[in-house]
Amino acid sequence: MTTIMRQHLIDPEICIRCNTCEETCPVDAISHDSRNYVVDAAKCKLCYNCISPCPTGAIDSWRNMPADKAYPLAEQLLWDNLPGQIALDAPAEVGAGDTATVLPDDVERIAAASTAGQGGTAPPPWSAAHPYVNLYGIHNPAVATVSGNFQLTTEDASSDIRHIVLDFSNASFPVLEGQTIGILAPGLDLNGKPHHVRLYSVASPRDGERPKYNNLSLTVKRVTEDHDGMPARGIGSNYLCDLKKGDKVNVVGPYGTSFLMPNHPGSNLLMICTGTGSAPMRAMTERRRRKFSAGETLGKQMLFFGARTPGELPYFGPLTKLPKEFIDMNLAFSRVPGEPKRYVQDLLRERGADVARLLKDDNTYVYLCGLKGMEKGVEEAFTALCQANGLDWSALRPQMLQQGRYHVETY
Ligand code: NAP
Repeated sequence: MTTIMRQHLIDPEICIRCNTCEETCPVDAISHDSRNYVVDAAKCKLCYNCISPCPTGAIDSWRNMPADKAYPLAEQLLWDNLPGQIALDAPAEVGAGDTATVLPDDVERIAAASTAGQGGTAPPPWSAAHPYVNLYGIHNPAVATVSGNFQLTTEDASSDIRHIVLDFSNASFPVLEGQTIGILAPGLDLNGKPHHVRLYSVASPRDGERPKYNNLSLTVKRVTEDHDGMPARGIGSNYLCDLKKGDKVNVVGPYGTSFLMPNHPGSNLLMICTGTGSAPMRAMTERRRRKFSAGETLGKQMLFFGARTPGELPYFGPLTKLPKEFIDMNLAFSRVPGEPKRYVQDLLRERGADVARLLKDDNTYVYLCGLKGMEKGVEEAFTALCQANGLDWSALRPQMLQQGRYHVETY
């Protein structure tokens, strides 16, 4: 008699390669190469921890397979599409310890129940607006028109960062601050396949880059070198940075159900970001700035923002013009000639007492976005400043995660 297993797979057509699943998997069953994310059937324990954080649902793919014929990693890495369910010889015996009798819909429900408020991804703030996700996919993208492409960095800056505005005309593309969209760059990759989706955070508030216009903005840095500093041309970023007014862009998404802002009065935002990780912070700050201008009373806003120099800090000019009573701004520059290198975590320590005061308030929501490397430094700063101010970060962190008050998006 054949033993049937329910094999967990990732749909390569929908996957946006955001790495969330690989980071979430507690048994390192998920890995990737330059093209696909794959699941090792021998390691996967069907714990479902990876299911709910996936922005697109690509992770929620299952096939019933004879246990000795599970798709190997080498085969999954070559897929462009998920194979269909193969015909199985009946009768079949369910493999011990797995969930072969669970139907896909049940898997989704179990996953949602088993991961909510646990693991590494927080639920959204209780008062967040309901996000729309996956309205447009690679087979039915929304077509946006570029209505602006502005350089944010100064001419002498070492990087080219742009503010790109996309107009959706009559197409409905609702987004919330903190959500991301996918861009389909035209052309083929080295394997002759269409480029996979590139993900960018929305930098404008829900009512549009220009209020009441059906548009949104992105903050994009032109990638010209790889992680080792070798020359490399980023497909998505160069495509976007080179766009001209009037060009058409295929857009998928929106994505993201966790990194959202609270809506209730009196909620505080503690935002920490580096470089283009500022995009969602700009969206949230701008949402609140419009409310502030309209005379609404708001909770506190505290921003820690790191860049190489003022000329490379996206939105430096507008940010420095914001009133002090609206936002408590802390800018860290790492490469200003003649000045010591400063990172966001250094400023967090310096402002420890004020940060701790915010952390003590149950209405405070923390957002961390940007370089992966800053996560460790920021966690260490939180640990130290909490200790110095009568708090225990090791106890507070999981509590804030569970309450949807600690959100991290780093790459
Ligand atoms: P960057 O210019 O390379 O760096 C920004 C600042 O962070 C610099 O001052 C840098 O200092 C500093 N930094 C480097 N390592 C750090 C560490 N361990 N702790 C704290 N600060 C550190 O940044 P970027 O190229 O814009 O990268 C931003 C990141 O945000 C990317 O990983 C991007 O994928 C991600 N992101 C982008 C978006 C988007 O929509 N565009 C959205 C979400 C996230 P040094 O002088 O030492 O380099």
